[in-house]
Amino acid sequence: MTASESSSASPVQRLTTADIRRKFLEFFHSKEHLILPGHPVVAPDPTTMFTVAGMQQFKPQFMGAPAVFSEGASKRVTTAQKCVRMDDIENVGRTRRHLSLFEMMGNFSFGDYFKRDAIAWAWEFLTSPEWMGFDPERMYVTIYVDDDEAFRYWTEDHGLPKDHIHRFGADENFWPADAPLKGPNGPCGPCSEIYYDRGPKYGDDSWADYAKTRESARFLEVWNLVFPEFDRQGLDESGQPILAPLPFKNIDTGMGLERVASVVQDVPDFYTNDVFAPLIDKIVELSGRPYEGESSVSHRVIAEHARSVSMVIADGVALSNTGRGYVVRKVLRRASRHAYLLGLNEPSIYRLVPLVVEKMKDGYPELVAEQERVQAAIRAEEERFLRTLEGGIQRLNGLLEELGSEKVLSGEDAFTLYDTYGFPLDLTQEIAAEHGVDVDVTGYELALERAQETARAGSKFGKSELFDAGAEAVQNLPQTEFVGYDQLDAEGEVLAVLDSEVEGHKTVVLSRTPFYAEGGGEVGDTGRLEWAGGEGRVLDTRKIGGVFLHEVEVLRGELSQGAGVRGVVGAERAAIQRHHTATHLLHAALRAVLGSGVRQAGSLVAPDRLRFDFTHTAALSAEELAAVETLVSRWVSANFPVIWQEMPIEEAKAAGATALFGEKYGDTVRVVRVEGDVDYGGAAVSSMELCGGAHVRRTGDIGAFVLLSDENVAAGVRRIEALAGEAATAWVRERLGRLNRTASLLNTSAEGLEDRIAGLQHQLKASEKEMAQVRAQLAEAQMGGGNSADTRELGGFKVASLKLSGVEGNELRGAADRLLEQSGADLVVIASDKGLVVKATKDAVAKGAHAGQLVGKLAAAGGGRGGGRPDMAQAGITDAAGALGALDTALS
Ligand code: ATP
Ligand code: MG
Repeated sequence: MTASESSSASPVQRLTTADIRRKFLEFFHSKEHLILPGHPVVAPDPTTMFTVAGMQQFKPQFMGAPAVFSEGASKRVTTAQKCVRMDDIENVGRTRRHLSLFEMMGNFSFGDYFKRDAIAWAWEFLTSPEWMGFDPERMYVTIYVDDDEAFRYWTEDHGLPKDHIHRFGADENFWPADAPLKGPNGPCGPCSEIYYDRGPKYGDDSWADYAKTRESARFLEVWNLVFPEFDRQGLDESGQPILAPLPFKNIDTGMGLERVASVVQDVPDFYTNDVFAPLIDKIVELSGRPYEGESSVSHRVIAEHARSVSMVIADGVALSNTGRGYVVRKVLRRASRHAYLLGLNEPSIYRLVPLVVEKMKDGYPELVAEQERVQAAIRAEEERFLRTLEGGIQRLNGLLEELGSEKVLSGEDAFTLYDTYGFPLDLTQEIAAEHGVDVDVTGYELALERAQETARAGSKFGKSELFDAGAEAVQNLPQTEFVGYDQLDAEGEVLAVLDSEVEGHKTVVLSRTPFYAEGGGEVGDTGRLEWAGGEGRVLDTRKIGGVFLHEVEVLRGELSQGAGVRGVVGAERAAIQRHHTATHLLHAALRAVLGSGVRQAGSLVAPDRLRFDFTHTAALSAEELAAVETLVSRWVSANFPVIWQEMPIEEAKAAGATALFGEKYGDTVRVVRVEGDVDYGGAAVSSMELCGGAHVRRTGDIGAFVLLSDENVAAGVRRIEALAGEAATAWVRERLGRLNRTASLLNTSAEGLEDRIAGLQHQLKASEKEMAQVRAQLAEAQMGGGNSADTRELGGFKVASLKLSGVEGNELRGAADRLLEQSGADLVVIASDKGLVVKATKDAVAKGAHAGQLVGKLAAAGGGRGGGRPDMAQAGITDAAGALGALDTALS
């Protein structure tokens, strides 16, 4: 049996990605695992920017914390985890094994089962015909060099031939990679990776070759079983790693969902699977460029990045100029560049979002509610990017003029265009070539490599996730003295001035500052810096370790090290403080109303709103929402003092302060407490939390509080958005105004609005139906039973073409179907001044006809754009005669 025969015989080959996700959870549920929600893509701990593995949210359990979750207590859990790995990004679209966002399916044991069961279940899930149905004879594994125990289970329990196993050192078969010698500290252990031989059609290398080259398109790694049994605690004096045994042995596995889908669906790569293929088709349709040849890299990059950026934005990451938001922005810009290369010179990526939602909502139902917001964010960024690109084109033209007779653009220049304008090398080459100029590609690659090394140096996780260029530069600076809880205006000395990620801005470190640095969900402060002879705007504040970094736009003068400056926090702080104290009250109210199982899962405290994520499985009823809102308002009216105080952690815990799950605290903690309880059904409810944030002095300062929404963000995690103070009253005023304006537009009152809309909807439906009938009749009349069509032999095909007026959309497609029957033609082309449709018979397609390509050419002549499949394609156009006139040349 050949490779392809055996895989197409697989009984479960038609499973979709969503089916596989569900089956994995189901399988481990049947092995008594508790199904838990994955963590949002924002990492649960500060070792990485994004969540990079399923185990990350369980570090406390691996270190011995009780395995108790709001879903129940269990030492065996299973999750589907969205992972974002930016170190793989340059490979996305080029090699076909890596995605910037992928799903890692995991099963975990906290001191319960160990190696033998983990291996047995992975084997069963992959090879059993009831589950994934992989061919057992094509399974291969790697193990850690001295892990004889794993070797025994693979060979003796499952009959894996010895020559299907390879032993690697800590660089390959330890997780995190190289952890013993290089860190990070924390849970780690040897691992065993499972590979599947995809067969000779993917490559003619052997398993032994793989052991040498560690690169193969044929042997695909699908699952990594990690056996964490050590707590790495640095190196001893002689440079040997200290690997203390963990309190118990654990299991941590990660199965690449998309990779398993490739095998199960027997598709060559991700881009032909059930999730990505429709995205690729849509890109073909939007751009009119077929998915083939060199430009297909662009289709892949756009499809992959559209999915990953959509999911990351949906998880609450806003596009910005720093940190995470900056990384996401870079990814989106990369996709935009490729869209531009495909001739899409207006925003288009946002149009893929509904498809992403459609394909992913089975695992992530929260996407549906986020769709509009995600689309708006992507579209706005695309618009911004296209404007920047224009700047790049001007700059490039300038550079080309300066070249004189040399005819070679330097690699440095090409790289600067890429780095600051997002101008890709191939685009630069294309434009340069039009001027007869070559680009120094080697020089470009050297410059790119240097920049990537700098980025990698910021990594803390073994694998580079942290893009923070500032990290290295501030390593040796003293901790900043933060005085901003009580003072909004303070003097300090400039310790360092660095170039910011944003052109023209500076990153400034002060000895002493009133600006709060982003942390604990609270956004960084903004405001002003003043110094002798100059001033600047503080746009954001964040910190690395205890060193505060101020993002400054210098408005006048120059900032230099050693200068004395005065920092003045902006008016937004008052609004931030209102939202922060309101967040604490909301948290306490939720626990009172829904029960103390409610656990904070993330929050955002900004000047214009607050967002609070918490564990809870059901949507809140209207009564629960009202009760929560009322409780908070009760605190506000009572106008209790808000007190903050530092104390030893033990004392804070004894007093009952709410600490955040998974958060690390020092010995001394800051406790924020409202001095006064409110009543809920006869019980006193109080608010006391460990918190480093900025708060109002009295609860009355909050002013007003309104809950906007409660929605699902991940399985078992809900999100509430709320407003406090002026933001709350402005929102209510705006809503009331809109309600009244809408009512008067429809000649009714706010009370009569619902009845009026129902009536209008009914009318509209009836008229639409009528219109469709009229258009169909109109088309029918103009077609004259097929006799009005112009039928000719063109390019070896019998082609029937017809111009219709006043017909569009569905009816145009319907007319094309009819004409195909009536005329007996191979290809039909129907155009109106609104649209264009081309259909080809199966036989014609087999003989090389391509409706999509034909539509692209005709649409261009008809003032529009379009594309589609070989058998059916359409376009929006404005000039039917022009489009039909191009038929001869297009088909010759
Ligand atoms: P690789 O060597 O192929 O990059 P890895 O060693 O980085 O993989 P792990 O960290 O062990 O992978 O992750 C567990 C599983 O997740 C892998 O076996 C693989 O199936 C999948 N995986 C890892 N990185 C990616 C990615 N960028 N895109 C898609 N799947 C991935
Ligand atoms: Mg990797």
